[in-house]
Amino acid sequence: MWIGIDDTDSPGGMCTTYIGAVLVRRLVQAGLRIVDARLVRLNPNVIHKTRGNAAISIEADGDPETAFALATACVEELAQFDDKKTNPGVAVSEIHPPLDFYYAALRDYCTVDEAVGVLEAVGARYRGYKNRRGLIGATAAISSVFPNQTYELLAYRKREMWGTPRQVDTASLFRAEEVTYPHTWDTVDRENGVVVGVPHTPDPVLFGIRGESPAWVKEARSYVRSEEPACEQVYTTNQGTDAHLVPGSVATLREGRSYLVRGTVAQAAATGPGGHVSFLLKDCGVDLRCMAYEPTKGFRAIVRALVPGDVVATAGSYKGGSLNLEKLGVARLADVVRIRPPVCPGCAKRMTSAGTGKGYKCRVCGARSREPEVKVLERRIQPGWYEVPPTARRHLARPLVRGVPAWEEVVLQSSQGCDAPPIT
Ligand code: ATP
Repeated sequence: MWIGIDDTDSPGGMCTTYIGAVLVRRLVQAGLRIVDARLVRLNPNVIHKTRGNAAISIEADGDPETAFALATACVEELAQFDDKKTNPGVAVSEIHPPLDFYYAALRDYCTVDEAVGVLEAVGARYRGYKNRRGLIGATAAISSVFPNQTYELLAYRKREMWGTPRQVDTASLFRAEEVTYPHTWDTVDRENGVVVGVPHTPDPVLFGIRGESPAWVKEARSYVRSEEPACEQVYTTNQGTDAHLVPGSVATLREGRSYLVRGTVAQAAATGPGGHVSFLLKDCGVDLRCMAYEPTKGFRAIVRALVPGDVVATAGSYKGGSLNLEKLGVARLADVVRIRPPVCPGCAKRMTSAGTGKGYKCRVCGARSREPEVKVLERRIQPGWYEVPPTARRHLARPLVRGVPAWEEVVLQSSQGCDAPPIT
């Protein structure tokens, strides 16, 4: 069976992954066998999310009635019911629901009625609390399939520590990353010298370690020195996979969805108030503003190095008419040329213009030349992929250290103009 939970926390506390970890332990105590525990990230653009739009799915063997009773009891005991934006949902199904609902919740928007339709169709046990919105995430979580997956080890704090400053040794986190990278990533941001895997919110999470296998996240964890955790859970997850991205074309983007879009740089980057950088991408006569916000730090230097005529693919969410950049692929760099008066061969001084259409003249010896000096300048970037630093990375964004999926390379290298190729 699959047990789904969502929408249990608020900015003031709790975390659905913690409820998942508690439930895993209670299911085991009740004699059920855990097959997998999944941390399922959904559309990062939904406005109702508390933080990272996460839901939980636990795959287990045993009595579904017991599982449902334990899951609802956990939620009723731990969810932040006082917050008006917390609307928990719990679903238990013995049939894996069709995966379309997962993809809809990951890449698009869904309604509670649609979720209930899916749950009814598979004969699931379910309970939605308050406005029942959490049923969307709970249903998406139990419908999920991960063609590509990563892992996250989450350590949780003892209850008496919740809301107090976290005691996690920074040097040990840097050491954990140094020893296990590239098999784990984003525990720290080495370029910017900051810790990424320790939250600052008042929830039960102590730290998280992301990586390619349960063994590697546990290996990294063994280096971390911290206050004593209450418990730890390794989740299988769609984080770091780009599962939210679909190929898109500039003219047909829809608000609140995430895309990989190919086009030509139409206007070089400009830096606006707050250090946010933007440039215009063009495809089939339509412009798209691409944004690299201030928290993307050094990535903005890459964006600033683009010039009109560069052919690129941009990945990110389309919001408020702009694409918020997570990653950038450079397919072809335009030639940047500098045109200046030539240097006089006789006296090695640079000539000056002799007037419109009259070529150039040396002010020292009077020599003349018709042709200017044309120099192709070296570009500051190379073709290839560039990404925002770990500190600015979205949960679903795939770090380059994991490689670029074949379909993304196809989009980048496509010669099809405005029509993005299908996912392969
Ligand atoms: P939590 O840790 O509790 O999951 P969160 O940041 O993940 O916190 P939620 O509090 O779960 O955010 O809020 C997200 C809400 O949006 C949930 O009610 C979920 O069911 C709903 N939701 C998720 N994806 C979609 C979607 N694609 N369309 C509509 N609603 C969605």
